[in-house]
Amino acid sequence: MPIYEYKHTSKRGDTCEDSFETFQKMSDKTLTKCPVCGNPVEKLLSRTSGGVDKLAPSRLKELGFTKLVRRDKGVYEKE
Ligand SMILES: [Zn+2]
Repeated sequence: MPIYEYKHTSKRGDTCEDSFETFQKMSDKTLTKCPVCGNPVEKLLSRTSGGVDKLAPSRLKELGFTKLVRRDKGVYEKE
């Protein structure tokens, strides 16, 4: 089952991390709200095995992805 990563876009609940991972079926709808605090979230790149992580950066660009790299403390930077 694919793992999807979501990030709070504005506020987040006291018990929430900025971003979180969740298992969803391919057929499940993309979350727009955090299931814990109900604040808006956006989906980050999925990390399915053999997914975008394994693609070359040039290929990612073609597909319109921006590769995000996790630095420490949950900060994302464009590579
Ligand atoms: Zn939340």
